[in-house]
Amino acid sequence: MKIVKSVAELRALPESRSVGFVPTMGALHDGHLSLVRKARAENERVVVSIFVNPAQFNDPEDLRRYPRPIEKDLAMLARENTDVAFLPIHDEIYGDRFRFEVREKEFTKMLCGATRPGHFEGVLTVVMKLFCLVRPTRAYFGEKDFQQLSLIRDMAKSFFLGVDVIGVPTVREADGLAMSSRNLLLKSEEREIAPRLYQIIKTAADAGVARRELSTLGFRVDYVEDVAGRRFAAAFLGSVRLIDNVEL
Ligand code: AMP
Repeated sequence: MKIVKSVAELRALPESRSVGFVPTMGALHDGHLSLVRKARAENERVVVSIFVNPAQFNDPEDLRRYPRPIEKDLAMLARENTDVAFLPIHDEIYGDRFRFEVREKEFTKMLCGATRPGHFEGVLTVVMKLFCLVRPTRAYFGEKDFQQLSLIRDMAKSFFLGVDVIGVPTVREADGLAMSSRNLLLKSEEREIAPRLYQIIKTAADAGVARRELSTLGFRVDYVEDVAGRRFAAAFLGSVRLIDNVEL
């Protein structure tokens, strides 16, 4: 596995027939690896980026404490036969000092976008930059972040990027909790009730019932909403924000 940091090194890679790209923020788990495995099965070259993108954090404390176990991540990627681990340099990615950004005016205002101002602009902008650098044939995103997947798919279409955006089902712990790098930050008593988020949004008669059940259990509910045949939810346990979604 080649570890690439600079844009110059990335550009110097030989051409490949097909490039499968998996953008991540690291602290990798089996959810990320299911994307890497699908990319591995479908492409000649697999590129995985690890970049904790400051532009998508609306809370500085969330950015500060985001886990960064880089050596462990690299070992996991090597085991999956990743060809290139791309660890971009902040000042190269944001050489424009955030002057330019990608904006979307409808879906980014809903769900996670309603309470995390600037979050999706940060996501769309960094993904656009990474697509321009990596020039993937296919890019893989998890359904765990379904709103993100949908926005990136629409962005690729709207700007004729020629990238096939592929969604991958959510990978869960045995108790149903969606795997997430932020799960590492849950206290043990929070970790015990965390799986209820999935169970409740899956079984509640409507979004209002789900909100009430979650609040009763001690979740601080950000939202539970049914949109276009899916139920989306975000809720805090202590200071950790969990998200999930299910098909209705
Ligand atoms: P992140 O590192 O959190 O930015 O996630 C990188 C990619 O992995 C995104 O496309 C996520 O949707 C995806 N991902 C994260 N957790 C999971 C999961 N539990 N199952 C499937 N995909 C996931």
